[in-house]
Amino acid sequence: MQALVIHAPGDLRVQDVPTPELEAGQMLVRVRCGGICGSDLHYYQHGGFGTVRIQEPMVLGHEVAGAIEAVGPGVSGFAVGERVAVSPSRPCGQCRFCQMGLQNHCLDMRYYGSAMRMPHVQGAFRQQIVIDTTQAYKLADHVSDQEGAMAEPLAVALHGVQRAGPLLGRKVLVTGCGPIGALAIIAARRAGAAHIVGTDMGEHPLRKALQVGADEVINVGTEPEGLARFAADKGQFDVLLEASGNERALRSAFDVLRPRGIVVQLGLSGGEMQLPFNTVVAKEFDLRGSFRFHEEYATAVELINKKLVDLKPLISATMSFRDPARAFALAADRSQAMKVLLSFDD
Ligand SMILES: [Zn+2]
Ligand SMILES: [Zn+2]
Repeated sequence: MQALVIHAPGDLRVQDVPTPELEAGQMLVRVRCGGICGSDLHYYQHGGFGTVRIQEPMVLGHEVAGAIEAVGPGVSGFAVGERVAVSPSRPCGQCRFCQMGLQNHCLDMRYYGSAMRMPHVQGAFRQQIVIDTTQAYKLADHVSDQEGAMAEPLAVALHGVQRAGPLLGRKVLVTGCGPIGALAIIAARRAGAAHIVGTDMGEHPLRKALQVGADEVINVGTEPEGLARFAADKGQFDVLLEASGNERALRSAFDVLRPRGIVVQLGLSGGEMQLPFNTVVAKEFDLRGSFRFHEEYATAVELINKKLVDLKPLISATMSFRDPARAFALAADRSQAMKVLLSFDD
């Protein structure tokens, strides 16, 4: 079988990799579709992010869906031919944090396509993958493989909303309307947010943000003072979901977040950020990180299966994995693309 293997920045190859043996409790999935994530782009463009660097060849990818090709001994409840979304989260189940229900903080996490540990955890951009049954979530017949692959970034957004606490009736600001920000808008809406404002520097992501349910959007590139009207009375927003990784976005949001407001930083940014900490103190902000997810993956698939979320507006294109340079170039172009998916069919 073939896989997409990153060797160095800009050096992404289609190459043969062996199919691992099926063990008890596992199944073989024919991968049909995989979403290109911001982290895949970082590995491709820069060889990593923050202090994380590729040190050996690694199969990229962690947002995939496919069809069951074979089931191992002792597997019940799944049959060959069924379509599943595959959770890339593989906590050990044994460590202190797994025992606390904080699986995303597992001490022995083997998350697909991650260079955070050595040897790297090989990813899911491959034609076949052996998974544990606990990673498989069945897709309803009306759900496309593409939508199934979107369960992973949706789970990231759902975890962010979970970290924010109750959103019913709240005014929510989402800074950065790329795929994660747009999915955070969808997740906040489902959680009962009363008014959602999205900001970005690009017209395309802002259009998409409106399409998936933002009440209003502001282009802070062309309209730098666009948020100022929300600064009255120490700030109008109850919650900030920060998805841009941009220090300036975070700072300007601090002016429009009310005292005791909640700040959720969704995902890792490229570098470290400096914050006006006196504002955090004086306005008594609650500063909360949000990293990956665990149980939210099941919720994501359920919401998709029940048509309670519509992810189709965020799917920009599906392209063959055999020409990764083309697909990754489109994925990096924020003026045209939200989520670009790879097809692993021949
Ligand atoms: Zn992802
Ligand atoms: Zn663990």
